[in-house]
Amino acid sequence: TLQIAGYDDELARAIAAERQRQEDHVELIASENYASPRVLEAQGSVLTNKYAEGYPGKRYYGGCEYVDIAERLAIARAQQLFDCDYANVQPHSGSQANAAVYFALLQPGDSILGMSLAHGGHLTHGAKVNFSGKIFHATQYGVDAGGLVDYAEIERLAQEHRPKMLVAGFSAYSRVLDWARLRAIADGVQAYLFVDMAHVAGLVAAGVYPSPLPHAHVVTSTTHKTLRGPRGGIILAKGASEDVQKKLQSMIFPGTQGGPLMHVIAAKAVAFKEALEPDFKVYQAQVVRNARAMAATFVARGYKIVSGGTDNHLMLVDMIGREVTGKDAEAALGKAHITVNKNAVPNDPRSPFVTSGLRIGTPAVTTRGYAEAECTALAGWICDVLDAPADEAVIAAVRSKVTAQCRAFPVYG
Ligand code: PLP
Repeated sequence: TLQIAGYDDELARAIAAERQRQEDHVELIASENYASPRVLEAQGSVLTNKYAEGYPGKRYYGGCEYVDIAERLAIARAQQLFDCDYANVQPHSGSQANAAVYFALLQPGDSILGMSLAHGGHLTHGAKVNFSGKIFHATQYGVDAGGLVDYAEIERLAQEHRPKMLVAGFSAYSRVLDWARLRAIADGVQAYLFVDMAHVAGLVAAGVYPSPLPHAHVVTSTTHKTLRGPRGGIILAKGASEDVQKKLQSMIFPGTQGGPLMHVIAAKAVAFKEALEPDFKVYQAQVVRNARAMAATFVARGYKIVSGGTDNHLMLVDMIGREVTGKDAEAALGKAHITVNKNAVPNDPRSPFVTSGLRIGTPAVTTRGYAEAECTALAGWICDVLDAPADEAVIAAVRSKVTAQCRAFPVYG
């Protein structure tokens, strides 16, 4: 047999069980989504066999004429989708894209200023445990007491530390960032503005969240979150100088990567085509409406949302002062077939492994067809579990409602 089943049953069972889990559990991890069957098809294609170091038309291997078509399509569609004139579709992941940007535009030891992990930033924005915080001299900013990005504080830190690069973007922030203001702060100290829009890229593509491209020197994203493509990264820029474009190109290859993943690049191309369709705008607008509906339900049930609400696809439930921890809440909700991740909230007194918060996002449930009614019901069930995390009867009752809701909205059918 040429299939995994019947040859490697142990692995086949794990894959089948994961597929079933994705159908039966409600997915609220803000960084996840369900890629389309077309994206899966491209990613499972024979393009995985091809070495194609270099760029279209300038490869270090023969036989690249067809993968060149795939990569050129991905580049052109990324440029159209984000209205920009530079795109590199080769980064294997968001972290790789970010590494290439840093190494292209900075020297080891240079100063960067980014949002701290504890306040919603990403590891690659200068966290001590990450290469970005080890190789560069990182200063970190955060949010104010109201949970909002504190621009005055960023400006003060920029003036004090004179970073070569201001890093903006987040993994856990529910509001709109003022890209123009961030650019002004960067310009004030002759720093690059680098925006990592990984979380909101799909919203940006659909025009429901402001685009950083007119403001930033360089923008990166993952392709698998709100953008709903394969796991991977991209680098984009609008109006960047020849010199900056050249540095970015050569820092992906040969600087930090070898052969590109041509099957993933083909999957990016098809995902970008899907994102250019009119119904992608409808989808992203629904993602935001669903997040608002969930946030309103949490607030009505007495749960605090960091910053009071959401303007994008995610929210942070702040449980500081409550007996239930983020870790326990994640586990109790998991038993009810609701998948979320515990997440530190600003000024969290608990450790990052325990936390006092939950991050909740709507990209995946919206892909399976949930609208406000389903999201409102779901948020109510989450509150039922959070109100009584040790009550097995409550958990069982919620699980049966979640099961029925998931069956009504199959992912892949
Ligand atoms: N940047 C941001 C803002 C993210 O949230 C993430 C992923 O969580 C990344 C970068 C890293 O992407 P990857 O997991 O593909 O390396």
